[in-house]
Amino acid sequence: MSRTVISAGRVIDPANGVDALADVVIESGRIIHVGSPLSPRADDERVDASGCIVSPGLIDPHVHLREPGSEDAETIATGSAAGIEGGFTTLCCMPNTNPALDSRVMIEFINRQAQLHARCRVFAVGAVTVGRKGEELAEIRLMSRAGAVGFSDDGDVVESPAMMHRALSQIRLTGLALMQHCQEPTLTRGAVMNAGPTATRLGVIGWPSVAEELIIERDIRINRSIGCRYHVQHLSCAGAVEIIRRARSAGQPVSAEASPHHLLLTDEACDGYDTMAKMNPPLRRKSDVEAIRAGVADGTITILATDHAPHTAERKALPFDRAPFGIVGLETALALYIKALVDTNTIDWPRLIELMTVNPARLCNLDGPSHGLGSLAVGSPADITIIDPEARWTIRSADFPGKSRNTPFEGWDMRGRAVLALVAGRVALDRDGRARPRTDSPQPGAVAITR
Ligand SMILES: [Zn+2]
Repeated sequence: MSRTVISAGRVIDPANGVDALADVVIESGRIIHVGSPLSPRADDERVDASGCIVSPGLIDPHVHLREPGSEDAETIATGSAAGIEGGFTTLCCMPNTNPALDSRVMIEFINRQAQLHARCRVFAVGAVTVGRKGEELAEIRLMSRAGAVGFSDDGDVVESPAMMHRALSQIRLTGLALMQHCQEPTLTRGAVMNAGPTATRLGVIGWPSVAEELIIERDIRINRSIGCRYHVQHLSCAGAVEIIRRARSAGQPVSAEASPHHLLLTDEACDGYDTMAKMNPPLRRKSDVEAIRAGVADGTITILATDHAPHTAERKALPFDRAPFGIVGLETALALYIKALVDTNTIDWPRLIELMTVNPARLCNLDGPSHGLGSLAVGSPADITIIDPEARWTIRSADFPGKSRNTPFEGWDMRGRAVLALVAGRVALDRDGRARPRTDSPQPGAVAITR
């Protein structure tokens, strides 16, 4: 059996406390060795990782792949290609599709489409309520059995406290997390950006931070007697960080994720009615950005996601108050996180890798024996991302493999990039020809993944 040998890279595997120059050897799609070089074989496929970081494949627990229903903006095929471009080998897609992913059948649909068309692993997050309408609990147990990796009505909050109580109680039995989109709806009716001087100047309805804080406070209180795993999606404000910090130090099963734009931009980016800066939750103030960074630094925020939200150019060209919320994130997230967190000395490389691999794997129960993702342990699937931390590049949305181009980071000069990605041992990305394949090696492209 021929092997793939990744040599001379800095192997960072936070799940196993590894940060060392080492070789990683792969056979039959699994990692068989991490450590000093083994004696070479003639038919080894070799990957030169010198100067690079060898990481478990990046995992994004929060993306929108728009399938089914909005395939003009993204599909599982194009969204997973965008993921691979950014170094992500696993994506967890949100259920706000049309129809919503609110049943066993819909989870099975995503699983099937992923097997047929995806270039990386794709798992579905099931809706909490039928049609994401907040009226009737969705078939939580059946979706869990079909392979859902969490539950969320993302795009909308689970509004009713009674429904939240039932949902937390049911989801607790699955061992999965409820991922909440924290937006108190009466405080945000008609709102399009952060409440503050910029919104006043632009003459648009503002969205106060307290709309996010209220839901988190309420949910934590409801969950106190239930003990479900509760996860705050894309938190945006200082108050949210503080509430989560307190809950975690009191031992509550609460986690939270950040997104790149909330770490790098403020609501002033909305000036000129720039719809690329229109997000849900909205961009906030500089003090909020600093509080989110502090939350990452002190371990309050343990997961870095993208909230990849593709929209067509036509829809983002609508007037500011009518344009959809959100930006694409998969192609740019790694470099933006390096800029926001490593270059500012907020966290170091091992911590960044932890927040983008093993922690999201744990959130979605992808780390256990059934999946083994987020780790480079011997026996794990060979999902590996090789990062050149010094690679210089410029964000050009025209080059994105995803279908949509809605990014506020166009033209930004970045440092650090995924140069090679393996999914189940097969090359899915090889940016600068580091892999020297055997002559019979399969070409990069669609990867058939055994789940
Ligand atoms: Zn959301």
